[in-house]
Amino acid sequence: MDSNQFREAAVASIDESERHVVSKVEPGYLRKLLPDAAPEDGEAWADIQKDIEVKIVPGLTHWQSPNFLAWFPCSSSFPGMLGEMWSAAFNGAGFNWICSPAVTELETIVLDWLARAFALPECYLSNGSTHGGGVIHGTASEAIATVMVAARDKYLREATSHLAPGSEELEDAIALKRSKLVALGSTATHSATQKAAMIAGVRFRAVPVRAEDGYKLTGEGLRKAITEIRAKGLEPFYLTVTLGTTDTCSIDDFDSITAVLAELAPPGPGELWVHVDAAYAGVALICPEYQHLSQNLDKFHSFNTNMHKWMLTNFDCSVLWVRCRRWLIEALGVSLAILRNDYTDSGLVTDYRDWQIPFGRRFRSLKIWFVVRTYGIKGLQAHIRKHIGFGEMFAGLVKTRQDLFEIVTGPRFALTVFKLQGKEIEGATLEDQNAVTKTLHDVVNAEGKIFLSSTVVGGVFAIRHCPSTPFVEAEHVKHHFQVLVEAAEKVLSRTNN
Ligand code: PLP
Repeated sequence: MDSNQFREAAVASIDESERHVVSKVEPGYLRKLLPDAAPEDGEAWADIQKDIEVKIVPGLTHWQSPNFLAWFPCSSSFPGMLGEMWSAAFNGAGFNWICSPAVTELETIVLDWLARAFALPECYLSNGSTHGGGVIHGTASEAIATVMVAARDKYLREATSHLAPGSEELEDAIALKRSKLVALGSTATHSATQKAAMIAGVRFRAVPVRAEDGYKLTGEGLRKAITEIRAKGLEPFYLTVTLGTTDTCSIDDFDSITAVLAELAPPGPGELWVHVDAAYAGVALICPEYQHLSQNLDKFHSFNTNMHKWMLTNFDCSVLWVRCRRWLIEALGVSLAILRNDYTDSGLVTDYRDWQIPFGRRFRSLKIWFVVRTYGIKGLQAHIRKHIGFGEMFAGLVKTRQDLFEIVTGPRFALTVFKLQGKEIEGATLEDQNAVTKTLHDVVNAEGKIFLSSTVVGGVFAIRHCPSTPFVEAEHVKHHFQVLVEAAEKVLSRTNN
């Protein structure tokens, strides 16, 4: 393919037609459509392109559709797409500064821009007093696994610093302590933390959250967990707190958590590394009305949010800041002869390979740079506020039909979690109510006009409505509600007859 053919083919990939939000294919559909083996000879692009429309598109769920309301969004934008295209054109593996200085330097600059835009404390800036800084990871899960590994090594290093380097005694002490380590989260923490504990080879304990606390982790819950864990001879070393939990978008109680940690694990050796997982809601910090949430983040050790969820930056793009970059580099730094160069040796440049698990890395800062420059901070604030407004609008509509629906939580950061009104079903148990809400969820998704996801909170099966995809407008929110009302009336009349 030459560059003219590429230009023509690329234009065809920009298709603005309306698509059905949910894919209707059955499992294994694609194997029936594709040959068993790769072609011996290269094929014409026209044939490949035809197959995109006929074979691939039917198997896609359309995450950019205004009727996609499931999980959290994965939002894209034209500047975000251009960032992906330029990155593909410049293709390289920017593991060291010398690999392509612009790749490293733009990343440091845009992450400082974002840290300021989110009002993060100065300790997270690349030139801050604690020598912190930001780095782009693919996903929040990678960011969390990375900080947990750094937290584990920091804890072990500090706990054994009195032993002679390289000694057998040090090796034994590390092995023994390592077997006792416990990472903490709550029952509302995303599974990425549990997975990180599996990867880091440590235990995981989820502290229960309660409906009466708004599904937040509280200092008291944490106190109980730390006390119980220590009573068993185990050692808590890490905690994920969440700003915008996946089920309900609750925010853990940072103040009471900080107070309990100051008492039970004060700063210094033996402290718990606290990571703030703000994968979805963190980008709302761009609006001054949410920046009170940034204020005490200097009490914690690291913070991440996904630009690819709600900030118009194409997947994948999770931004992570640490209060002290040495913690990452000490845990993950490697030095091989093949990597040595004068710039690295001078200590004047950043080699991001030591801030992450993979070796090579993509030029992801381009898409952030394009998005931030195109929309400006004001445009991005307007984007967030618009969706917060849609969340309020939807919740307001739900409240007009209390005969049909009941809000479980929200709206928070545009997310409303609701269920079918239990009073409508005579003598119904919790299981019966859950079953009927699940029927509504399944009926609506099968119909395919809108696409929702569900969760179970405090034993209640509930439906999540999250209208924060890029093209959603007020008429769409009204349409979502109408679809739900019609389906709910049908489901309830079937249940009561
Ligand atoms: N943390 C939270 C709070 C999430 O909601 C999610 C996904 O929705 C994740 C982490 C995982 O995100 P990723 O797919 O970027 O690993």
